[in-house]
Amino acid sequence: MRSFASYFIIVLMFDVTIIGAGICGSLIAHELSKFDLAVLVLEKENDVAEGATGANSAMVHSGHDPKPGSLKCKYNLLGNRMYPALCEELRVNYVPIGAFVAAGGKEEEEKLDILISQCKERGIPFEVLDGDTARETEPNLADRITKVLSLPTTGIITPWEVSIAAMEEAMLNGTKLKLNYEVVSIEKKDDHFLINDEIETKVLINCAGAHCDTITEMLRPSPYKVGAKKGEYFVLDHLNGTFVNHVIYPVPTEKGKGVLAVPTVHGNVMLGPNSEFVEDAEDDATGDGLDFIRKEIGKTVKNVPFHKMIHTFAGLRPHIDLNDFYIQEDDQIENFIHVAGIESPGLSAAPAIAQDVVNDMVLPKFECKKKEGYKRRERFIDISKMNEEEVNALIQKDPSFGKIVCRCEKISEGVIRDVIRRECGARTIKGVKMRCRPGMGRCQGGFCEPEVLRILSEELKADPSEILLDRKGSNVCVALAKEDL
Ligand SMILES: Cc1cc2nc3c(=O)[nH]c(=O)nc-3n(C[C@H](O)[C@H](O)[C@H](O)COP(=O)(O)OP(=O)(O)OC[C@H]3O[C@@H](n4cnc5c(N)ncnc54)[C@H](O)[C@@H]3O)c2cc1C
Repeated sequence: MRSFASYFIIVLMFDVTIIGAGICGSLIAHELSKFDLAVLVLEKENDVAEGATGANSAMVHSGHDPKPGSLKCKYNLLGNRMYPALCEELRVNYVPIGAFVAAGGKEEEEKLDILISQCKERGIPFEVLDGDTARETEPNLADRITKVLSLPTTGIITPWEVSIAAMEEAMLNGTKLKLNYEVVSIEKKDDHFLINDEIETKVLINCAGAHCDTITEMLRPSPYKVGAKKGEYFVLDHLNGTFVNHVIYPVPTEKGKGVLAVPTVHGNVMLGPNSEFVEDAEDDATGDGLDFIRKEIGKTVKNVPFHKMIHTFAGLRPHIDLNDFYIQEDDQIENFIHVAGIESPGLSAAPAIAQDVVNDMVLPKFECKKKEGYKRRERFIDISKMNEEEVNALIQKDPSFGKIVCRCEKISEGVIRDVIRRECGARTIKGVKMRCRPGMGRCQGGFCEPEVLRILSEELKADPSEILLDRKGSNVCVALAKEDL
């Protein structure tokens, strides 16, 4: 990064600037951080993964479902194969849990047969089971289910963990992240773009999710419109395989993959989503959709333990009117790259999208080398995965690892301090919750929030009144984001 003062305005110059720190922006930044380039990520919220990446079904789909010949299909298949190695590289959780697509009756079985032939054509491992055989491993499969497509390469992740880890490692290797920074203007100059009158960049990558069209309109009439499709969920307390052992899908409809039962990496189960267009791309309130989910889920599973429900939430899919991902360099404006309309299966596809954007669209524009001495991030400390000896050694070294703050998820003070101190560290109560889970459990933060606030205020040397619960702006974040640059 270079900078110069001209007429008292500081202009910052970068090789590549990415707008949006969702899974696409973070993984592209991570790929680029392996090369000798000055890279900047701009994010309007006060943390990464606050858009669609922070609220979804958290699944790495096998690729059985997207339309043949679509970019969704191409990148889903490639991304599915990349995830296990990527998660190992980033030191984050990946569980190859497998999925059942469950059909009941002739009409649904015929739709299942289409998916089965797509699996064959696409080289996706699969097995076909009758209802009774499937119920031997999934006893809560609804009685009406007569035929099941088993998809063993379906995985589950924690999407914001992948995004945060990718950004953390990118920052360890020189990438700059500016939070609380909304892009409101872009001008194309001779050989660069000028963003918000203060940042210059040679290459600009639009990863702004539901706002990709607004970004494009700053430079030219947008070739696509992006709308938001809401999906709501119930979250059930830790069930650890006592309800379902796989992801359970119904057969898909024209509205999408339908209402699923999805075990999470941490042993909870999510039920959802529905799929409804909303006017406001920021409207993530839950409501009537939950009634729909209660009704629909009974088509595939029985004995749903609704009394274990601890939380509801909604996510917003960046739905594009072209009905496929739009990933290409602009045909009118050189060096402006679209990564737009990344709705489902965007999470599954993101590693492959990042690889193609970097290798095919960005690197050919620069003469750059791979960075030497690339730094690897450390895994978030997870005491639940350590044996007694390891935990004792950790507490001997730092007694704060023995002081439990979150009783539901058993998270200690030392673990919380670690996620605040890192590159791309937590700056809000929600930021701590997303990284190490205090507030994710049965009490939903009722007991631990004041303690998390105290720790944040000590670590950030800020008055507790300046620290926010979640993404709706934070003075502390603004100050830190400016310092970072
Ligand atoms: C309900 C639901 C369920 C889903 N389930 C799955 C699933 O199981 N598997 C799967 O593969 N996919 C799933 N998806 C899709 C997946 O979540 C998305 O495809 C993916 O997260 C999109 O990532 P992104 O980086 O493109 O966008 P986002 O995560 O939305 O990131 C865009 C970022 O850009 C920022 N931004 C916008 N405008 C500006 C601006 N002007 N200046 C600065 N920053 C800006 C936003 O704040 C945001 O952080 C689901 C989506 C939803 C909503």
